Amino acid sequence: MDKTFKLLLIDDDKLDRSAFRRYLNTTRISYDIQECAYGKTGIDEFEKGQFDWVFVDYNLPDINGIEVVEKILDTDPDASIVIMTGEGDELLAAKAIKCGASDYLPKNALSSIVLTQCIQNLELRKAKVEAEQNNRAKTEFLARMSHELRTPMNAILGFSQLMHENTKDPLSESHQFRVSQILKAGRHLLNLINDMLDLSHIESEKLSLSIEPICIANLLEDLISLARPLSEQSNIVLIDNTYSPEEIFVLGDKTRLKQVLLNLISNGIKYNRSEGSVTLTIEIQDADYLRINVKDTGVGIPNEKIDYVFEPFDRLGAENSEIEGTGIGLTISKKLIEAMNGSIGLETSVGEGSEFYIILPISVPTQLDQPL
Ligand code: ADP
Repeated sequence: MDKTFKLLLIDDDKLDRSAFRRYLNTTRISYDIQECAYGKTGIDEFEKGQFDWVFVDYNLPDINGIEVVEKILDTDPDASIVIMTGEGDELLAAKAIKCGASDYLPKNALSSIVLTQCIQNLELRKAKVEAEQNNRAKTEFLARMSHELRTPMNAILGFSQLMHENTKDPLSESHQFRVSQILKAGRHLLNLINDMLDLSHIESEKLSLSIEPICIANLLEDLISLARPLSEQSNIVLIDNTYSPEEIFVLGDKTRLKQVLLNLISNGIKYNRSEGSVTLTIEIQDADYLRINVKDTGVGIPNEKIDYVFEPFDRLGAENSEIEGTGIGLTISKKLIEAMNGSIGLETSVGEGSEFYIILPISVPTQLDQPL
């Protein structure tokens, strides 16, 4: 650590303070220390200066260490504070941690190694908090941006469509072509914006799922009627092999599960060969789980690319093809399925096709869950 760290030490015992400094001198940490003998002066000092770490003794003459921890955290909720306790005071240490202290040190076990480790942990914890804050800021920014972009995008699409479909005053053929290009690019952009908005919602944990037992036969029936036009349009046969003699319910969010399966089917159609097929099957696993498979006869995915399939914006080279996509669908699908306590995966073979699957817990239906 090259930086000089600012450290606040609050301890009324002069000998303990000098022992602390001695240990600190034997570490390779460059520091600047401020010492206080009272809890209240420690809190005042903290408010005046910016400290990287605070070490506070539990037994102070005016207020106890836990009150100091609470007051300091009121000023800076991310402050790194270590409470120092006497021998056998583990309960107090646990209480301090519960109040927000980052760590505790038994005074009798203090050594340069223990101190170095404690400081390294504080820095790791700080880095983690910072990374989480940055991530939150990024997702919030994305959500806001996507929202702002959608309104003008809808206007562009709406007016282009009006021009394209105007029978009263039709456009010339070349203008028709140009407007259709605007529409195509606009729809792609809108999809991208919508996917980004969805992803940022999921990442910022604003996603609220409504987990309930879902009758899988009903869901698949809806899904197939939704996907059928797309498969027919692309000349791909959609095969439903999901029949089961007994009614199966899985636990999940119905709308989001439909979204994920639709994404898998639409990928199976998009990345297929001409006149290929997409087949849906189900299988019960370990009695408690249902696996839903979407198998295609498409291009397959090379081994070295499999790890990137669920990465955002990675289209594995499809960006150089005519196939439209944003590269976020599978990222969203994975996050959604994991939020439903399920898993998603694939088996694939280049030239033969891929089978994407999701696994969800089976639910035992109650009387209320039975379809009317
Ligand atoms: P996209 O919008 O690009 O389809 P996805 O996140 O759904 O985004 O998929 C990511 C990438 O994974 C795709 O761009 C494609 O290269 C690959 N992929 C997804 N599904 C399949 C499939 N069934 N067969 C082959 N490749 C696929």
